[in-house]
Parts: sequence; structure tokens; C-alpha cells
Amino acid sequence: MKTFKKVMAILMALALTVLTFASCGNTEKAPVEGADAPAVLRMGTNAAFPPYEYVEGEKIVGIDAEIAELLAEKLGMTLEITDMDFGGIISAVQNGIVDIGLAGMTVTDERLESVNFSESYATGIQVVIVPEDSDIKTPDDLNGKLIGVQEATTGDAYATDDFGEESVKRYTNGSTAVAALLNGSVDAVIIDNEPAKVFVEQTAGLKLLDTEYVVEDYAIAVAKDNTELLDKINTALAELKADGSIDKIIEKYIPAE
Ligand code: GLN
Repeated sequence: MKTFKKVMAILMALALTVLTFASCGNTEKAPVEGADAPAVLRMGTNAAFPPYEYVEGEKIVGIDAEIAELLAEKLGMTLEITDMDFGGIISAVQNGIVDIGLAGMTVTDERLESVNFSESYATGIQVVIVPEDSDIKTPDDLNGKLIGVQEATTGDAYATDDFGEESVKRYTNGSTAVAALLNGSVDAVIIDNEPAKVFVEQTAGLKLLDTEYVVEDYAIAVAKDNTELLDKINTALAELKADGSIDKIIEKYIPAE
């Protein structure tokens, strides 16, 4: 009899615990339904752009991924990263498929017609990668050559404007453009400096031209009608800049030479 009582007591206790968890779950869910701020911050990126975003194991890591993680934390949200073609990010932001575009993305007048941008968090420089034995010494030498670019990037726009449509070959991301340079399909690649450095370090037989083709500002893209999120991001960014968090992340991925 005693044992029976004990077992019952334990069972009752267990049942109570389950009930408590269940009711916790319910009370937690209730306010979320009515809240207008989504609990998830959805980020669109193209994870072939080291050190800003790249895949390591199963995870998307890099400067942008870490900045987004801190932003989400400050906004009381959880971060969800979706990998997509770079050329699809702006429309994904515009159409509300993601909340932010964070992809080493340069602020341009053309993009500002479609989305808003946060304050800038980093600088990018367009540079030129060529084979080590190339006769291309300056950007002017690119005349009449085939230039590989990542589709829909500023590098694509500059190459097309400066050297003409027939000189440009577009690739879905930086690594495929560099692979095309290695197998001789193009004579040079125009791309942002930090990924360029990583690609040249990882690949034998390539070098960077010693010129800064164009200097640009990177910022976070947000839908035009989501000024509430834009304001929150700008406030959070300012705090993360002021307390040194952004510098720390950048230094972690781009050690000072
Ligand atoms: N900074 C360039 C742009 O915005 C390239 C960015 C990227 O390829 N991720 O177009």
C-alpha cells in the first residue's frame, strides 16, 4: 500500500510538472500572436563571399553573420539566415521574404530606388584579380579583355559601364568567377577586396593588381515600408560601433597586416 501511494505521488508530481510546462508554453505563446514585431530576424545573404559570409561545416559564418547575430540579440529576436543568389537579395527584401539583406552589399543610387539602407558598417574596395603572369598591369589594360564578375554586383556594373557588355562574363558567385579565371575562361575578375584577398591566398597562380578600382560603403538593406526596423537597426548598429563590437568582429576576420 505504501509503495502504491509513493508511486501515485510521483505520478501526480510528474503530471503537475507536465501541466506547468504546458501552461508555460501557452502563456508564452499568447502575447506573440498579438505582437507586431516578428520574433525572427530573417537575413538574406550569399554565403560565397568570405570573410563576410561563407559556409563552414553546416553553418554560415563571417563578419556579416556575426554582426547580424548581435543585432538580433539587441532587438530581442532570433536570427535566421537564408543563402541565396546575390542578385536575388534586393527583391527578397522588397517582397518581405527576408527582413534584411546583409551581404557585403554596397549602397548604390540604383538600389536605393528599391530598398533603404542602414548606416554603413564597413568599407569595400573593388579590385582586380589576374593570373600571376598576366600582361594586365592596370585597370586600363582590361580594355578588350574578358572580365569575370559576380552577377548583379557593383563589380558587374563598373565592368559593364567601363568596358562594355561584350567584355563581361557573369557568374553566380565569387568562387565560380575565380574558378573561371583559373581555367582561362576570363582574363581578370573584378570583385571586392576582402574576398579577393581570400581567393588569392587560397589559390596558387593568382595575384591582385595594386590599384583601388572603386571604394564603396557596405550597409544593410531593409524594405522601404519597414522604417521601424531600419530605425532599430541603426540604433543598435550605433551602439555596436560605439562599444567596439563591430571593430572586434572585423579584426577577428581581417587581422591587421
Ligand atoms: N559589394 C558588392 C555589391 O554590393 C558585392 C557584394 C557581394 O557579392 N556579396 O555589389
